[in-house]
Amino acid sequence: MATKDLKGLEEKILNHVHVGKRDECWKWEGAFVQGCATVYHEGKSHYVSRYIYMFANKNFRVKERAVRHSCRNKGCCNPRHLVLGRDLVKATFDPEKLRKKYLAYVDIGSADDCWLWKKGGLNNGYGFIMHNRTSYMAHRLAYYFSHEGFDISSDKLVFHRCKERSCCNPNHLYLKDNIRGENNMQAKLTWKSVQEIRQMYFDEKISKTKIAKKFGVSPAEILYIVRRRLWDWLK
Ligand SMILES: [Zn+2]
Ligand SMILES: [Zn+2]
Repeated sequence: MATKDLKGLEEKILNHVHVGKRDECWKWEGAFVQGCATVYHEGKSHYVSRYIYMFANKNFRVKERAVRHSCRNKGCCNPRHLVLGRDLVKATFDPEKLRKKYLAYVDIGSADDCWLWKKGGLNNGYGFIMHNRTSYMAHRLAYYFSHEGFDISSDKLVFHRCKERSCCNPNHLYLKDNIRGENNMQAKLTWKSVQEIRQMYFDEKISKTKIAKKFGVSPAEILYIVRRRLWDWLK
């Protein structure tokens, strides 16, 4: 992931961590997949603990290593409880195996019906499969298996024409280039502007309304940004 995308992911993670006392477990207020805190970003699911470890330790080269919880609480976000585990054995990507797994969970109907995802534990309404320690969105797989040449790990997003997020009917799916944060109010603000807002509010004592106007967001959102606890360990 490029550094600029990491900033967006960092923001998203920050917004869902309940920062507690120094040594206690910090609660994750976002989604969980198989007991692990997970965040949905740029069309993909990511394990939160891995990125918290990376941000907290400024170590962005942990790709080949597992991040474990010393507190054994998989949902914990306290960076002091995160340690590097053993090396991940990179298994080879096996599309046939993945296809079999995928087909076992999709309810294939007529060309017009929504093909719903039968496996439970939807993430944000989307179906997913774990394969080789990677989480794959069900509808992305549906698109992948019906469109030769589509790179499943690409940045392009697969959207639904129907309103059913777990639907895997390829006729209801279309591809779109990744326009960052489309339809997402928070995405109007970059990491840089968030810092600018904090500076304007705390240092220059400019009112929320004025700042809100300048950035084209609501005063409530400015309040949210300035009130939110900072990750002091990131500074
Ligand atoms: Zn913990
Ligand atoms: Zn559908």
